[in-house]
Amino acid sequence: MDCIFCKIANGEIPCTKVYEDDQMLAFRDLNPQAPVHVLMIPKQHIASLDEVCDNNCDVVAHILKNAHIIAKQEGLDNGYRIISNCGADAGQTVFHLHFHLLGGRSLGENLV
Ligand code: 5GP
Ligand code: ZN
Repeated sequence: MDCIFCKIANGEIPCTKVYEDDQMLAFRDLNPQAPVHVLMIPKQHIASLDEVCDNNCDVVAHILKNAHIIAKQEGLDNGYRIISNCGADAGQTVFHLHFHLLGGRSLGENLV
């Protein structure tokens, strides 16, 4: 499958890792939109939140369970925002489930 994030997860494409375990990977976004902009992905291919189901939701919980640990590791003691774009209207460009972890400045009140 020609999926950029699968290739990052299996090491074919390099990334700047900030956290890794057997189920997930977190790495810096290539085009950061905040001082800290990390992408958290499952190692297994799930196209988007639309594909989350009983068989794969454990890894989603696993990612969200580790998010605050990664946030603290990144120094986001003043707060952070997690976003997952799903589908065309949300502007999803990479169809491998990912959670943007954003922080390091006041993120404003627009878009939640
Ligand atoms: P989306 O728009 O699908 O929610 O977000 C995709 C994100 O992936 C974008 O913020 C984009 O900058 C990032 N991205 C796309 N290709 C790469 C890549 O090869 N490496 C890294 N580190 N980030 C990428
Ligand atoms: Zn993938």
